[in-house]
Amino acid sequence: SPQIVWLRRDLRMADQPALYAAAQAGPVIPVYVFDQDRAGDHAYGGASKVWLHHSLESLGKSYGARNSRIVLRRGDAPQVLAALADETGATCIHAMRHYEPWWKEAEDELRDALGEDTKLCLYDGNYLLPPGSVTTGSGDPYKIYTPFSKAMLERLPPRDPLPEPGTIHSPDGWPESDELADWDLLPTKPDWAGGIRDFWDFGEDAAHDRLEWWTDVVAEYDEGRNLPSEDITSRLSPHLHWGEISPAQVWHKLKDKRSDGWKTYAKEVIWRDYTQNVIDQFPDYPTQSYRDYDERTLWRNPNAGHLIAQDLECWQKGMTGYPIVDAGMRQLWQTGWMHNRVRMICASFLVKHLLIDWRFGEQWYWDCLVDADYGNNGVNWQWISGTGVDSNMFVRIMAPLTQSEKFDAAAYIREYVPELADLDDACIHDPPDDRRGDYPVKMIGHKEARERALEAYRSSKD
Ligand code: FAD
Repeated sequence: SPQIVWLRRDLRMADQPALYAAAQAGPVIPVYVFDQDRAGDHAYGGASKVWLHHSLESLGKSYGARNSRIVLRRGDAPQVLAALADETGATCIHAMRHYEPWWKEAEDELRDALGEDTKLCLYDGNYLLPPGSVTTGSGDPYKIYTPFSKAMLERLPPRDPLPEPGTIHSPDGWPESDELADWDLLPTKPDWAGGIRDFWDFGEDAAHDRLEWWTDVVAEYDEGRNLPSEDITSRLSPHLHWGEISPAQVWHKLKDKRSDGWKTYAKEVIWRDYTQNVIDQFPDYPTQSYRDYDERTLWRNPNAGHLIAQDLECWQKGMTGYPIVDAGMRQLWQTGWMHNRVRMICASFLVKHLLIDWRFGEQWYWDCLVDADYGNNGVNWQWISGTGVDSNMFVRIMAPLTQSEKFDAAAYIREYVPELADLDDACIHDPPDDRRGDYPVKMIGHKEARERALEAYRSSKD
């Protein structure tokens, strides 16, 4: 009897346990349901939709090459899937497990909506180890990264990756499907996605090509990962987020590299597991501060209406007058990605220099990142803003100009802030006012911003 594979952020053929199990059990009906309402504030952002379109297109071709296809439907996922199960007589819906609260809810609703003859089978494999499975001695999930990471390293490696299924049988007839183009995931007028298309190759093959390239470069990661002018990070984040590649595939490909680069890299991939453990425990974490501050006195936004809106816009558009911040924000806008060091600098600038509530930043990154991830984004924003479960970062205020020099961002600034391209290394990080041309002066001085932030912090913590 037919087997439905419910695709979400697991858009690959190999090491896809739900597909693998379905293919062994009967004819396979792969389905992607575009359910834009369920996630509320975290409905797909603009850049995510662009990636999703291309990733589905690429996966559709892979299924096509196996004489199969992806059925595309729109609407409330549990209802759509229950109806499809009725329509096709499917006896099981196979799906990878996801930890965003709206997906956990959808899984519960789906179980309730399915008739007696259809089961829902969930599989692990989008994380190194199943979130929630690595616990303290007393059986509780970890809240803090460092002990979590130590416990993970004791349990790793992850299981060996599965191959693609041998045969994928088709059902007797194919259910109707939407056309991908009708979902309007791509922008038209204006088409702002050109920079994203130039910067990325989408889909499972592209993910493996990048991993292949990365096996030679990972040795340099320990030193190179902080240098935004260089291409010394894996740039696998959107591929991992959309499940075009699994972390187990990444791990097993690199595990024999004995370099310090690999050891540091492994810890970053563990961060990705960590953030899922956090949202599994605290589903509202990306929208609610964990620590108890008086946020009415901490942030400027509640009382300063239009000023905040203007400041937020300068930050979003990359017009703060701090070249490293503006280069980062413009890289984000153009390519859908930003270097990790600069993500931190820009986030810190918003919450500390501008004293704007971290949730505005979280939402902007959410809309612009091709790797926008509920756990990774929310957890990193709360980490930078010092409102999260881990040690208090609020008083650690990053100095953007020092960071820019220290991590040698001159070439990066020249690329993304072309109006400064003619300046030499000595002054590009902080150009004198008479050499800025059309480029804006600094919105606020670093010393003044730092003092204002510390004062706001002091008055909000008791
Ligand atoms: P690499 O340095 O090559 O790291 C390898 C992989 O490890 C990444 O692909 C990613 O999956 C994971 N990883 C690395 N750093 C982190 C981290 N700090 N937290 C969680 N996972 C990590 N990452 C996202 O994937 N989605 C987001 O929405 C996101 N939002 C962020 C917001 C802020 C404010 C900050 C400071 C960081 C955010 N990150 C996010 C984490 C990190 O910046 C990106 O994962 C990284 O820059 C992606 O580039 P890469 O693949 O070259 O990373």
